[in-house]
Amino acid sequence: MFGIYGHPDAANLTYLGLYALQHRGQESAGIATWQGGRIHFERAMGYVADIFDEARLSRLPGDSAVGHVRYSTAGDSHLSNAQPIVYKTNKGPLAIAHNGNLVNADEIRRELEDEGSIFTTTSDTEVFLHLMARSRAENVVAALKDALSRVRGAYSLVLLAGERVIAARDPQGFRPLTLGRLGEAQVVASETCAFDLLDAELVRDVEPGEMVILDAGGVASTSFGMGRRTAFCIFEPVYFARPDSTVFGKSVAEARRGFGRRLAREHPAMVDVVVPVPDSGVFAALGFAEESGVPYAMGLVRNHYVGRTFIEPRQAIRNFGVKVKLNAVRSVVGGKRVALIDDSIVRGTTSKKIVRLLKLAGALEVHMRISSPPTRNPCHYGIDTPRRRELIASTHELEEIREFIDADSLGYLSIEGMLQAFGRSENEMCAACFTGHYPVPIATGEEQVPLFVGGPNGVLLPALDLREPVAVSDTAATPAA
Ligand code: SF4
Repeated sequence: MFGIYGHPDAANLTYLGLYALQHRGQESAGIATWQGGRIHFERAMGYVADIFDEARLSRLPGDSAVGHVRYSTAGDSHLSNAQPIVYKTNKGPLAIAHNGNLVNADEIRRELEDEGSIFTTTSDTEVFLHLMARSRAENVVAALKDALSRVRGAYSLVLLAGERVIAARDPQGFRPLTLGRLGEAQVVASETCAFDLLDAELVRDVEPGEMVILDAGGVASTSFGMGRRTAFCIFEPVYFARPDSTVFGKSVAEARRGFGRRLAREHPAMVDVVVPVPDSGVFAALGFAEESGVPYAMGLVRNHYVGRTFIEPRQAIRNFGVKVKLNAVRSVVGGKRVALIDDSIVRGTTSKKIVRLLKLAGALEVHMRISSPPTRNPCHYGIDTPRRRELIASTHELEEIREFIDADSLGYLSIEGMLQAFGRSENEMCAACFTGHYPVPIATGEEQVPLFVGGPNGVLLPALDLREPVAVSDTAATPAA
């Protein structure tokens, strides 16, 4: 997700920003710009570089733009759900792009449909626009605040409203959102790696519960729900974010190295070489090798022209992808005892195939080490994880998992170790896919609504009732620097 205000090349820069953020979604992409009193937009299924050519970008004039790359965690993988979603409303034309999942979108949607609203997508993002259109507030900022007071869950969003770009982050701050500067222009992005590609300067994170308004007056900031328990997604530094990004104020690469070092202390292995599962295991493996004093080597090579298996939504592609994606380097692993480092085990089928690859290439032993705790619970806040029954750690004990993947030993990083290595407490983070303590209550269904969230030293604290109206503070304008 990317937004820019005040640059004559807004669409081209958004294209580049999305290019840097491609890892956050590969199903579809879109860009919306503002010029001549209307929104211009282009959206399509596929990768950013395949969708946008010169002709398409030339149809996106204007100095303001918002853009999005999508993978579906709510709503189908279909062009109608591609973002930004563009509506003509009583508040003017609006284009919105959203990262995260709302936990009460279905409830709001049912209520609005009962009252006559017609939805054109199955995405939870559309709920924002309906709520804004129905708000009695007279301006867009107040209408967005009205809308945000109704929704619960994870959202970092960008909105194009006239020439203004508005960005907001949910009060728990599940997903990252950063504010930057490119000359006189203002930019926002899901991750700082987008700024690096543009040579933009990182200014700061958009705070949880903060809305920033980028316009001719500079950057204005207003709060709509600050001061609550934060719930930064620990899976962002573990797996999802790019290692060259900074999320939640910390370098992802350094965080992963720290997870690896801690993992080596918690689960040492008598091995000859430390091998990462590329790419997300690379920095954890470096940390593991440093801490254990064992050489690090690239014993697996990844074909970068195959999509990431974890976020491909179709099972057929997922199975196919594993086979073509990785290959073992015989000269590195042959005749060696290998510590194999990965960020997580989801279903276990990928790990099993990788262990087999290494053994077929001559590895004598494969000791699997995972730089996060067992993934036992699905995410309801915007990361695509399977249902609980498909998560191997939810249905199997450690020894059964080891046996299934055919490793000689298996060790996971502890929850305490992961949080300590990241330098945050459980009260600041969401770690629900590991702990089952959902910091924002989720809808009933297969996964039950938690009444408690984890506290320090394993003490459970009551979850906040986020259905209460949120406080709205005055807008405080800060000049552009
Ligand atoms: S459940 Fe897991 S993946 Fe989802 S927000 Fe929480 S830590 Fe992140």
